[in-house]
Amino acid sequence: MTQYRIPFNKPTFLGHETEYIRDSIADSRISGDGGYTHQCHQFLEESLGVRKALLTTSCTHALEMAALLLDIQPGDEVIVPSFTFVSSINAFALRGAKPIFADIRPDTLNLDERHLPDLVTEKTRAIVLVHYAGVACDMDTIMALAQERGIAVVEDTAHALFSRYKGRYLGTFGELATLSFHETKNFTCGEGGALLINDESLMERAEIIREKGTNRSRFFRGQIDKYTWVDLGSSYLPSDMLAAYLYAQFERATDIQARRQQVWNRYFECLGAWAAEHDVLLPTIPADVEQSYHMFYLLLPSLKVRSALIAHLKEHGILSVFHYLPLHLSTMGQRYGGKVGDCPVTEDLADRLLRLPFHYHLKPDEQADVISALRGFEEWD
Ligand SMILES: *Cc1c(COP(=O)(O)O)cnc(C)c1O
Repeated sequence: MTQYRIPFNKPTFLGHETEYIRDSIADSRISGDGGYTHQCHQFLEESLGVRKALLTTSCTHALEMAALLLDIQPGDEVIVPSFTFVSSINAFALRGAKPIFADIRPDTLNLDERHLPDLVTEKTRAIVLVHYAGVACDMDTIMALAQERGIAVVEDTAHALFSRYKGRYLGTFGELATLSFHETKNFTCGEGGALLINDESLMERAEIIREKGTNRSRFFRGQIDKYTWVDLGSSYLPSDMLAAYLYAQFERATDIQARRQQVWNRYFECLGAWAAEHDVLLPTIPADVEQSYHMFYLLLPSLKVRSALIAHLKEHGILSVFHYLPLHLSTMGQRYGGKVGDCPVTEDLADRLLRLPFHYHLKPDEQADVISALRGFEEWD
């Protein structure tokens, strides 16, 4: 395997994580819903202003909980951008829903709200939104349409913790929202996630689904004498040792976000003239959006240039990566009827997007190396 001098990602690690994990072990409370889990819930609820936050074992599992909570049934349709991670729709497909793939906007790479009126049918039960790179979707337009048609909105907020739209935090608009604490995200505990619940009527059942279909959460609060099987569910709660790791990062949220902002701004400022000269597009941040500084990407002129640039950066010991392969053209997507030409913007941009090394621990001199390697690239045609 190639050793990269400058890797694409290093998981955030501040130091206090190990101390807090030791603490949770000493407390003999290492299963789910211990003290650190409660502190994480409180932190998310208070800082975002959501009604209820529940830590989960992953964002994928939080999305599965959302599909269960919305009672998604075989034959229901769920609209999702084709340009996203597989979990955004797999959770709903698991319940038998049919994915309806939407194309994205060429500026923000978010679901293009102008297509929604054509995609909505009698069978549409939910719209899954992804705030790509922590930049908000057009929430005014989307929420108005969803409310008018009685369709639930689930925000996949994996990139967008602490992003805002017109001053309001993402993850507080939809009935439900999900977070990821995978090692590639701004805040991490290795593998982890959270479900954010804004619709009060879903709160009690969310606790039940997360606790194997039992009312154990009410039992722990002393509201009932015995707990029992009351609904479908699974085991979606993480160990308190992972919550301890995560809480150490939540405590330093301001520092983590400020560092990532510096990295993002440095790329943006240093690459502006270079990008304009070579027909490269840098991320677009609309005026009413405050982003989360999750990633930095380039939109290159062609697939050929992207392949050559990846190889060029590799020669300099720098790992750059791309994602997502359009979901409607994946093996599963085609089984649901997806075909070439369905989402032209997604198909085009997925070939041209490149992500640069971006993480909390990226040093200014490493970033300067990435920038100078980019400037040294010559194979533009
Ligand atoms: C990372 C990610 C996920 C999955 O997160 P896990 O915690 O690994 O399950 C889902 N959606 C998006 C948009 C992501 O970036």
